[in-house]
Amino acid sequence: MIKAIFIDIDGTILDFEACVEESMRCGLIERGIEYKDEMLVTFHRINDVFWKDLEQGKITFEELLERRWATVFKELGIDLDGPEFESYFRRRLHESAIPMEGSFEILEYLKAKYRLFAASNGPHEQQVNRLEKAGMLRFFEEVFTSQLIGAEKPSSDFFRYCFNKVRDIRPEESVMLGDSLSSDMKGGNGFGMKTVWLNLKGEEKPEWVDYEIKSLGEIKNYL
Ligand SMILES: [Mg+2]
Repeated sequence: MIKAIFIDIDGTILDFEACVEESMRCGLIERGIEYKDEMLVTFHRINDVFWKDLEQGKITFEELLERRWATVFKELGIDLDGPEFESYFRRRLHESAIPMEGSFEILEYLKAKYRLFAASNGPHEQQVNRLEKAGMLRFFEEVFTSQLIGAEKPSSDFFRYCFNKVRDIRPEESVMLGDSLSSDMKGGNGFGMKTVWLNLKGEEKPEWVDYEIKSLGEIKNYL
């Protein structure tokens, strides 16, 4: 019998992409720059290169913070201070909490039937703050983050920590709900949990994923 649902945060109940867009747009407007959608595309392209370089050890995180907005502004021909915008952007993101469509209703629904835990790869204080902002913190018994635990989904260390904390529930009595195959589904499945995949991009479901949903509302078919 299922007793608990572990729920990913970004891309599952909070719309991180929309938070990024909002933070960038508001920051530029406040600085007297007209915002255009193509600017977000440029940001993502450059940001992806910086994160790849970071993963490959070519740059440090500090260098990424120092340089990414300067690079974006240079390419867009915008005369703004990159590092200053970076610190604004990160502050704003910290406060930004735009719910995914239907997430509030589905949390109400699940809370009435199960114990709920948040399980996120992200900075702890920021994730707690964003859930609070969205009015969602009250649904969760605990917020588990990779920063708190010192290990990320899909690693078994992440889930071992959670189940050590929640001793009266076993993995097979739990569901991992999330949008990422590589972190949420792999991690939950690898630890013996049931998995529900929020597949918004219509990708192909691997057979080892238990259930696939195309919108949060569909979860009622399974839970
Ligand atoms: Mg996610």
